[in-house]
Amino acid sequence: MNASYTPASIATLMEQMAKMTSQRELRELERALLELLGNFLGCNTISLYGVRNPETEPELKLLQVNDGNDRLVTPEDSGWLAAGDEARKAIAIGRDNRAPWQYGGHVWQVVYQKNSIIALLQIEHRPLLEEEASFLSGMVRIHENYLRLLYDAERDMLTGLLNRRSFDARLYELLEQGNGQQTLALVDIDHFKLVNDRYGHIVGDEVLLLVAHHMEQILGPYAQLYRYGGEEFGIILRGEPALAHMRLEQLRLDIAGFIFPQIGHITISIGHVGILGQMLPANVVEQADRALYYAKEHGRNQVCAYDQLLQQGNIAPHTSYEGDIELF
Ligand code: GH3
Ligand code: MG
Ligand code: MG
Repeated sequence: MNASYTPASIATLMEQMAKMTSQRELRELERALLELLGNFLGCNTISLYGVRNPETEPELKLLQVNDGNDRLVTPEDSGWLAAGDEARKAIAIGRDNRAPWQYGGHVWQVVYQKNSIIALLQIEHRPLLEEEASFLSGMVRIHENYLRLLYDAERDMLTGLLNRRSFDARLYELLEQGNGQQTLALVDIDHFKLVNDRYGHIVGDEVLLLVAHHMEQILGPYAQLYRYGGEEFGIILRGEPALAHMRLEQLRLDIAGFIFPQIGHITISIGHVGILGQMLPANVVEQADRALYYAKEHGRNQVCAYDQLLQQGNIAPHTSYEGDIELF
């Protein structure tokens, strides 16, 4: 990078920053950052690693690489590996000091989200000049601000779970790609209105938060949990429907067995359906919702599978009356 900025170099920088900040998808945002840094630092290889457990036993996963010839590579998912000595040192230093750390032909720069290191840039470079180091950490600050915006846009404020928007996007993606066997479940808290009526909205909010955290803990890595609406949650579970049913049954039992501060016991009802590639998102949701409705109508505190209800003749297949729909 040249310390004397020409109008042309500033214009290029502005253009690349505009490109970076227009991204609404995490991987694209990361790519744009690597592209911009590659152009302006004139460095060799830039690697971006995801970081987890930064405080204890840091692990890294390679996310994207700019190979120095303006080629951006997204490597195969190689899984999480224990961080090497240099990376560990970079993370330890990055906890106190967000400026780049230069060591043995590498420049290391930590990336933060919400007070925690979530990524690490490794740049092959001669030692950075002072203004280059400021440029690098400045760009990473901008990147972090956008990470935060992306994070907030896909999450629900109260529970911190992924929100309805993320749910819709994920379901659409699953149906398009047909990613193995998956099950969609809709969960609704039973008689939740009573909680609000008896104990007030603030306690109601607290219960929602606790239910969300319990569900996350109980389901673990086998499922992705979403706040679908008020006191309704969506779950996308991996695995065949019978296995999903078992996990959901366990979830129902665990929630029913938990004693919530102030209010005691609450129960949940669940409807679920297998996600098949040729279905439309609205149909999948509708089928899970019909199974949930059945659970509600037949005593609550139970898990109902759409396909089973259909087989047993408890519900009729849905017939759509096209042309019959009154919109207004
Ligand atoms: P059912 O067993 O049939 O589901 O009964 P219910 O009372 O849970 O159902 P209903 O849909 O009538 O009521 C849902 C209630 O959830 C109504 C609304 O006040 C409450 N609710 C929705 N979102 C929130 C929220 O964010 N915080 C709180 N405290 N309450 C919420
Ligand atoms: Mg409801
Ligand atoms: Mg309810």
